[in-house]
Amino acid sequence: MRAPGWAGYRFQHRPYDPYGLLRLTHDDINSVGSVSLVGAGPGDPGLITTLGLQLLGRADVVVYDALVNKALLEHVRPGAERIDVGKRGAKHRFSQDQINTLLLEHVGKGKQVVRLKGGDPLLFGRGAEEAVFLGRHGVICRIVPGITAGLAAAAAAGIPVTHRAHASTVTMVTGHEDPAKDVSSIDLQALVAMVRAGGTACFYMGGARIGAITARLAEEGLAPQTPVAVVQSGTLPSQRCVRTTLQHAACDAAAARLGSPAIIVVGTVAGIDEPGLQWFTRRALFGQVVVIPRTRLTASRLGRRLGELGALVLEAPTIRREPAEDRSTINDAVHGMSQFDWMVLSGVSAVSTLADRLPELGLDSRHLYGVRVAAVGRATAAALHERLAVAADLVVPSLVAERVARRLAGRGIGGKRILLLRAGPARPTLPRLLQEAGAQVTSLDVYRTRLASHLPDDVLEALRGRRVDWIAFASSTTVRNMVELLGDERALLAHVKVAAIGPATAEAIREAGFEPVVQPVRLDIDGLVQAIVAASTS
Ligand code: SAH
Repeated sequence: MRAPGWAGYRFQHRPYDPYGLLRLTHDDINSVGSVSLVGAGPGDPGLITTLGLQLLGRADVVVYDALVNKALLEHVRPGAERIDVGKRGAKHRFSQDQINTLLLEHVGKGKQVVRLKGGDPLLFGRGAEEAVFLGRHGVICRIVPGITAGLAAAAAAGIPVTHRAHASTVTMVTGHEDPAKDVSSIDLQALVAMVRAGGTACFYMGGARIGAITARLAEEGLAPQTPVAVVQSGTLPSQRCVRTTLQHAACDAAAARLGSPAIIVVGTVAGIDEPGLQWFTRRALFGQVVVIPRTRLTASRLGRRLGELGALVLEAPTIRREPAEDRSTINDAVHGMSQFDWMVLSGVSAVSTLADRLPELGLDSRHLYGVRVAAVGRATAAALHERLAVAADLVVPSLVAERVARRLAGRGIGGKRILLLRAGPARPTLPRLLQEAGAQVTSLDVYRTRLASHLPDDVLEALRGRRVDWIAFASSTTVRNMVELLGDERALLAHVKVAAIGPATAEAIREAGFEPVVQPVRLDIDGLVQAIVAASTS
């Protein structure tokens, strides 16, 4: 096996780009594999480093753990392999040896491997073991630090781990030592002395053993009234925190039914309760659960805005996509490509369809010779390059039909034949505008949409468990779809506050037998968000 190096070293001579990342294209490096040990951060997917995110976007293989937020996987490119080696409870799905071997196998095949780990890869993450193993096999992996849960969960709970007036040291401690070690390597006496002197201790992996941990600290002489905070699911919308003292910690955590993952913060700082530090929990919608039924395939802006305000957002896609019925129509168009002057691809799925059909028809990219290609959206152009090695003759960054038509018209399309492959189904505006510009247009939708077959499990469970505070409808179609998908269980909506974006949506809600609680004055997404906030905080 050729010893792969890490991608950056080949570009050291370039002065302003120490990682070689800005210039490195996928093609540049794909002959030599690499492994990057990337910290995914504590939970909130925004808390990964930009370097980590870039590597993730370029990986061929992503090997990830249970605590990694799955939303990060949306940044992995479509063709890349995702391997979940997450450990569930005591049952390891993959042993550490298996993970090590897996990494080595993939890098040996010349793959760009990202090993994505919760928090920081070297902090109780066994990252060092993986790096050492790979190093012994001639692979030096790159290590990209992450924001560790101890710091982030404390911060999100309003606890500064150090404070000039209270704490000058902070210690990260495991609450769950390697069971193979028979003698504890933690000097609890020294730890207690440090906490007594005002230091902070953050216990990881200690949630289930909080009783034993606090008892041992007390035995070593830590005062019963020492402040303790237990933070579960820190930085996530589901974050919960119990502020207590050493003597009551086990009891209070059990009473609050705190589970894992949790950080136990011990020390004076755990008693600091200042409004100025409570940014996370004081957000307008923190603690609220909002269901957003949607007809788009991608996450909604509404969801993002509500999430920023602290809500736990459950997106419920009410439609699914299926290939357009008539395969032969698309096949005929692809086959007869030479009759067209331009092919316009209006979305990544149009590219995928084309890239899938060509080999099925016994063809390849050479079949596109002579046809000008326009890509609508940069992602479409990138997919075209990646899937078919075709550089678009025209890339229109805007998805707005008028702009696309204007740019194409600028290339002189009068009398020309255009094949428009649309990710569809889309509005008829673009074909009409192109026709008005004098082109002969063949417009084909590669997909059509249908009502989804069912609602996502998390949405149904939350509704059945009466854990949903709001359901926010951004169109009357979503109302009708949602009611249809709920079927016999539509009465579940009676327990939820219903928000409608405008009068037509409100009307659809009433027709379904429910009454909207809020209807914004401003009829757009921001107006809807404002109305939900106002109704939640009043
Ligand atoms: N490398 C990780 C830690 C892995 S050990 C890091 O740097 O954060 C796993 C432990 O991390 C869990 O048992 C828990 O103690 C802690 N943890 C991880 N995510 C957490 C979260 N969102 N909130 C609270 N604790 C978390």
